[in-house]
This record gives sequence, structure tokens and C-alpha cells, in this order.
Amino acid sequence: MCGLIGVNGTADAAREVYVGLLNLQHRGQDGAGILTCGGAGQFSLQKGSGLVENVFSEQSFKGLKGHVAIGHTRYATIGKKDPNLLQPFLDYQAEVGIAHNGNIVNCYQIARELEGKIEKPTTDSDSELILKLVAHALAGQKPNAANLFGAIRETMQKLVGSYAVVGLDAEGGLWGFRDPHGIRPLLFGSKLEIDGRQVYALASETVALAYLGYGEIQEVQPGEAIYIDKNGVVERQILRKETHSPCMFEWVYFARVESAMSGISVYEARFKLGLLLSERIKDLGITADLVLPVPETSRAAAIALAESLDIPYRELLIKNRYVNRTFILDDQKERQTAISRKLYAISEEIKGKRCIVVDDSIVRGNTAAKIIELMKHAGAKEVILVSTCPPIAYPCYYGIDFPSHEELVAGDRTDEEVAAALGADRVVYQTLVGLKAALAQKNLCTGCLTNEYPTDVTSGLEFQTQRSKDRKKAKVK
Ligand code: SF4
Repeated sequence: MCGLIGVNGTADAAREVYVGLLNLQHRGQDGAGILTCGGAGQFSLQKGSGLVENVFSEQSFKGLKGHVAIGHTRYATIGKKDPNLLQPFLDYQAEVGIAHNGNIVNCYQIARELEGKIEKPTTDSDSELILKLVAHALAGQKPNAANLFGAIRETMQKLVGSYAVVGLDAEGGLWGFRDPHGIRPLLFGSKLEIDGRQVYALASETVALAYLGYGEIQEVQPGEAIYIDKNGVVERQILRKETHSPCMFEWVYFARVESAMSGISVYEARFKLGLLLSERIKDLGITADLVLPVPETSRAAAIALAESLDIPYRELLIKNRYVNRTFILDDQKERQTAISRKLYAISEEIKGKRCIVVDDSIVRGNTAAKIIELMKHAGAKEVILVSTCPPIAYPCYYGIDFPSHEELVAGDRTDEEVAAALGADRVVYQTLVGLKAALAQKNLCTGCLTNEYPTDVTSGLEFQTQRSKDRKKAKVK
């Protein structure tokens, strides 16, 4: 999962992209990059490892010139700390650059099939492969809306997986496209500058656009490509469409609570997840003295649940805000250390109480086990762990680092066995019906819950093998 933003039409496009990236930092903390075009092929590119504010300085903006810019925050599922995999990627010869969020399930297969037929990517990145495919399909033509739409259509025919892409070209055009299932989000907005000029932007989340003053925010449709030329002329075309299947985990965990996905507010969805869980808890006859959220993502759900059950809501797990999100960290050991550095339980309030602890999801179980240990250590009489997401039992092939079935705590376990494995007195999960109702979506990607994916995932095994090799390599270093 990564964060994307692109801006066209303002003199200081790079600075806007930078501010946008700060608002998308939660989507990836491994590294960041900005690519600009100052006209007639004058590209400037800066990328680096770490947080956005550490990658760029005031000096950066002296070099990053132009009316059009794209930016990326990286969350790696492969090649964790390899700086060569940072985005955006630029193809000087084709005069196009892109940044990508998602994962191409058949990337190794495409690379093999097209070996010698397209320019070889310099890295193993599926994002660079997309760039090479677009560049190849352009076949030396100067990029414009018509021939880019053609090149993207041709590229889409080869790709299986999830992709939201922003791109720019030497002609000063900003463009973007989204996979035919719309698994990963991409939004489009516009605003009027003081000088009367219309500025356009594309981004992964509404919060990044709204923060920069963009309005009339709309979704880029599944399978749609959009091109904004240097004069602000906008062209849109649906190139390929399948059933819209947005990733449910955007609402559950990934997106900022201020954002909206597919027109549904993330806050509202999380609140409803809590309300629906409270019904389940009533049905199960569970009672408790306190409801506690695991900060930050489960707060809205925990408030709803506490209100509905009429049980006091207390924020007693305190987060050290300077420690990165544990989900995004590299390996299990790093994650566990981070959890113990990150959370503190206020034992004076917890001691002797039956506590419902609300978390957004349970993946490997590291965070959950540590939290339960913290709660018990703080003297909790009973810990009932409530997950706003149904059991995650299968891998994600679309860009979220959910490991194999065996590594997932809910993979082969019943709810009771999960509770025992985590040290909880009880575990209560959201139901699939509840999830769909809360997110108000007819269709969703729920592959990691049901093992039914919106695309073919037969090449996924190769991807999984590569990912685990990659993890081992990272540990050796
Ligand atoms: S498999 Fe799960 S995490 Fe991956 S895109 Fe689908 S819903 Fe999202």
C-alpha cells in the first residue's frame, strides 16, 4: 500500500505534492519521492528513504521545478529497504514517469514473457514494469491524451492485480488510471487559483486533496484513465471495466479517518462497524466494565460500541505517537519491539476490571498478543478482544502485506483457538455481513477473508514465494 498524489497547473506543483504526501504519510513510511517536469522534458526527480519530512528540505524545491508534479510514499511488500525501488520511476527516453499503488500479481510472468521484447526494467519492481509497458506501447509517439489512453489500454490488457497510477510526461500532462476492479483508490479534484487558473490534482485519499483546498472531488472510476494537459484540458475514458471491488481494508485500517472511499466516510464506516459489533456482543451475552480502543484506528468503532452497550468508554492504552505504525514495519521482531515501545496501559484504571478492547483487525496476532499481555500486566480481570474486521485468514495479493494462510493467526484456528493463542479471555470478530453493511458497498474485495479474489490469483504463489525469500534476505542483512 502506498500514497500517491499528482498536481497540474500551479507554479509550485512540487510544494503542493510535498504537502499532499505529508497527508498520505500513513500509507507508507519506507520512503518518498517527487518527480516534476519544468517543460520540454526538463524532469527533476528526488527520492529518499524514510519519512516525507526527512526526505525533502527547502533546498529540494529549488530543484523540483515545474507546473506538473507527482509524488509517492512507499510501503514495501517486496524489497523492503531497497532504495532502488523508491518511486516515482522515470523513463527518460519515452519522456514519461509514474508512481503506482497496488500490486501486479502476474508481474514475474509478464517480465518473462516480454523479455527481449520490451526494455528490461532496471529493478524487480512491478511499478517499473508498468512504466516500461506504457513506454513500450507509446512506441516513440509524443505523449498526449489519445496515445496515452491507447498505451494504457494495451498495458491494462496484460496486467492482473491492483493498480492506481499517477503519471506525468514531458508535454506537461498529468495523468492517472485505476485497475478495472478499482481495488486501490484514486481521486480527482480541482480548484481555482487566485489568478483564475484552474489547478487539478489526483490523489489516493480525499484528505490529501481537501487539505490542499481541492473541491469537486470525484473517484477516478475503475478502469478509467484521466489526462489533464498543460492548458488544463481534461479528458477521461473508461478503458476496461469489471465489477468494482474496492479493498475493504481501506475503511477498516488504512485510510485516514477524515477521508471518504467510494463516497462513504471512513469515520462513518468505522462507527457503524462498532455499532454492528455491539449487537453481536449483546447476542453473545457478553458484559464488561470498560470499553477501550487500541489507538488510533479503532477509536470511532470503540465509541459506537461503548455508547450502544452503555459501558464507560476509556482511553487507557496510551500511544507514543513517535513510533511508526507497527503493521508497516519490516519483520516480526521489529514489530514486537515497536509494540512494546509504542503502547502503555494505565493500570490504576484497568486493575480488576472486565475490559472490552477494540482493535481494527487481527493479522499475525503480534500486536494483539502484546496488548493482551499489557492489559493483564496492568491487572485487567478479563480481556475480551473485539475486532472490527472479520478473521483475516488468507493472503493479500494486491499490495497489503498479509502473509500466508499459515502465518495468519486466524488462518487455521477457531475463534476460541485464536483467543487461546493470543492469551485473551475471548475474541469476538465482526461478521462478513456486518462488514458489508457498515461499508455500504454492494461489492468489495474480501479476498483475505473469504479466499475469493476479484482477479485471477494463480500467479500469486510465485509472488508469495518471492516475498518470503525477500523477507529472509532482509533478515540476513
Ligand atoms: S485481499 Fe484483503 S487486503 Fe487485499 S485488497 Fe482484498 S480486501 Fe484488501
